[in-house]
Amino acid sequence: MNKNDSYDLVVKSPGRINLIGEHVDYNGGHALPAAIDKKITLKMKKNNSNNVTVYSKNIDSEFTFSLSDLNRSSIEWHNYIIGVIFYINVLRPDAVKGFDCYIDSNLPLGSGVSSSAALECGVAKGLNELFKLGLSDTEIIKLSKDAEHTMVGTKCGVMDQFTVVKGQKDHLLLLNCKTQEYKTIKVDFGDYKLILLNTNVSHNLASSEYNVRRGECEIAMKVINAKYNDLKYLCDVKPEVVKEFKNLLPEKIYNRALYTSKENQRTLKAVEAINCKDLHALGNLLYQSHEGLSKLYEVSCPELDFLVEYSKNYDQILGARMMGGGFGGCTINIIHKDFVENLIEEMSIAYRNQFSIDLTPIAIHIGDGVKI
Ligand code: ADP
Ligand code: MG
Repeated sequence: MNKNDSYDLVVKSPGRINLIGEHVDYNGGHALPAAIDKKITLKMKKNNSNNVTVYSKNIDSEFTFSLSDLNRSSIEWHNYIIGVIFYINVLRPDAVKGFDCYIDSNLPLGSGVSSSAALECGVAKGLNELFKLGLSDTEIIKLSKDAEHTMVGTKCGVMDQFTVVKGQKDHLLLLNCKTQEYKTIKVDFGDYKLILLNTNVSHNLASSEYNVRRGECEIAMKVINAKYNDLKYLCDVKPEVVKEFKNLLPEKIYNRALYTSKENQRTLKAVEAINCKDLHALGNLLYQSHEGLSKLYEVSCPELDFLVEYSKNYDQILGARMMGGGFGGCTINIIHKDFVENLIEEMSIAYRNQFSIDLTPIAIHIGDGVKI
């Protein structure tokens, strides 16, 4: 397959950042994500057969499968595509016919900017258009998430798919993950910029530990429900209430619950800080979030901790934290625009001295959701 072949349509599907509110989406909390200008490009055309052929330039690999055989593949990336078609079939039986898809992307894979949701939602949106399926955004968000749960095995929350589909240029989304209601918040950080620093490590724990955390949160909820049975999600439980359970929960489970409850509150405080243009307060909330993710929720790693700790050496950096599922990937940093280049240079040297790994900076521009 060649990118210069003629295609019926081109989909641009963005990655996302999350300013704050990490690991709260599956706990019914509030997150503050936005779509970014880095994207997966999918070129698609009907091929008048019963087969699907997909080429990914990033993996430099192509595979073909029959629409009569939508079973899991042993190769991970195939499953995002097979899974999306599987769940479209549930809603629109046999409406998807054979097609070719050429994928290219400037989103780093597995770095916490949600290349996975960009891939799922991009395929779903493209097929929706190619075969005139009439699926709503809500259906596309849900079936993409289901594909990741079942075919890939990551029990992700809804934030990633939601943001990829609903993102708006220059706006953060204050997303209530319980109701999937959201408000848009215009981003104006004045002299400050959002910069991602990619550790370029991914510890492979991300997927398995993700599901472990979900399980731990469910355990905490069960115990809390024995006393408060009207609360459905951990983010409905105030930190003071979580503290009542300090001696009733195993320490790790207690820590998970306390982090989750506090992180949900931090998202709401972050919105207040943005509205009051108090970027120092916002930066402090990012640092607190990282502290919780590292010490209580235990989804950080030495590389992420190093970068966040190192950023505290600079007054020109207001805040930093790990972003995404964890165990590698990127930190998100609020850095004064006049110092971005110098600070990145210094931090890259320090990071290389410590870990012998190159740091990759990514300047963030907040863009629209998936587009055809
Ligand atoms: P993240 O969503 O943070 O990038 P995940 O581990 O959830 O990390 O998803 C990354 C996976 O998504 C990759 O390992 C690969 O299987 C799939 N993926 C993402 N982008 C592409 C691409 N351009 N081509 C093929 N597979 C991709
Ligand atoms: Mg992902």
